[in-house]
Amino acid sequence: LNFRVAEFFTSAPKLADCPPDIGVEVAFAGRSNAGKSSSINTLTENKKMARISKTPGRTQLINFFKLSETQRLVDLPGYGFAKVPLAVKEKWQRHLEQYLRERQSLKGLILLMDSRHPLQDFDRMMISWAQSCQMPVHILLTKSDKLKNGPAKATLLKVRKEFAEDQLISAQLFSSLKRTGLPELRAKLGEWLGP
Ligand code: GDP
Repeated sequence: LNFRVAEFFTSAPKLADCPPDIGVEVAFAGRSNAGKSSSINTLTENKKMARISKTPGRTQLINFFKLSETQRLVDLPGYGFAKVPLAVKEKWQRHLEQYLRERQSLKGLILLMDSRHPLQDFDRMMISWAQSCQMPVHILLTKSDKLKNGPAKATLLKVRKEFAEDQLISAQLFSSLKRTGLPELRAKLGEWLGP
């Protein structure tokens, strides 16, 4: 699995517009500012990769990146812009939920949270949707360089403990800045996407 060859493929506003539901994909989700774009850039070693998802008009779209003919990374719309009207938020939620529940090729969800304030409402909502359809979730506690070693480990343990009962939920620390946790993230993606 070579992440460096990832290239932007297409965008879709909702499930019905997604590319054909064949092969395998892994989706990245998180509140705005969680560090999603940075993580995708770090993973693919391409500074421009996720900038595509941030161009005006694309921020509310599901963005697809191709790794091979049958393997994709998917950048889900960020969430939590204060100024977005409630009706728009609700529409995003419906689209996100439908994508998570119905997309057959989706093998797992990478859920990014700032390690300084993990498990906000949005994060819990995503986890409960994933749990309700037995979708595996791997939590990335991002910007771990902003915490000292002790507090970072304590946060990781606390998150792991909360979901200790659920075999389909895992968690790790991650820092794009220091590239910490990159091998672990790659291993998880390899587990879901295959070689
Ligand atoms: P997104 O909105 O989830 O795509 O978040 P971005 O990737 O754009 O990151 C949001 C902010 O956090 C930016 O100012 C980044 O520079 C910063 N950031 C992202 N990852 C890291 C990290 O690993 N360490 C630190 N210190 N800052 C980070």
